[in-house]
Amino acid sequence: MLLMANVESFDLDHTKVYAPYVRLAGAKRTPRGDAISKYDLRLLQPNQGAISPSALHTLEHLLAGYLRDHLEDVIDVSPMGCRTGMYMSVLGEADEEGVLVAFRAALQDVAEHDRPIPGVSELECGNYRDHDLAQARIHAREALEAGLKIQPTLLIER
Ligand SMILES: [Zn+2]
Repeated sequence: MLLMANVESFDLDHTKVYAPYVRLAGAKRTPRGDAISKYDLRLLQPNQGAISPSALHTLEHLLAGYLRDHLEDVIDVSPMGCRTGMYMSVLGEADEEGVLVAFRAALQDVAEHDRPIPGVSELECGNYRDHDLAQARIHAREALEAGLKIQPTLLIER
């Protein structure tokens, strides 16, 4: 028998979302009662394109800092393996509106970023040669121009 934990994102109907968007992807509570909220920060429409690995890597480095500039208690920001967006975990109750405002502001910062990418050296990064700032900035600009919104979760009907 194959045992595998249920994974929230496999239940999302990826054909019924409209990127770019912010979606509450999950909510947990620690044994001590603290809330943790996980968000799907989607830049590209699923199955209609993908961010190049180097641009996604740069987005990871830039959004790690810029999202924390605009949002308190960020636990983690990580790229999706499908290369259409990022996951972000935040300490606290769900606040899609607040995350939407912060994500917009962080993408604006990325679109305007014209300095060295933070954390890019052999000491600080696991693949420091693999970055693409120009393309990362284009993705941020395009998402802003397309207009970010809050996406409700529509589950696959099984
Ligand atoms: Zn890196």
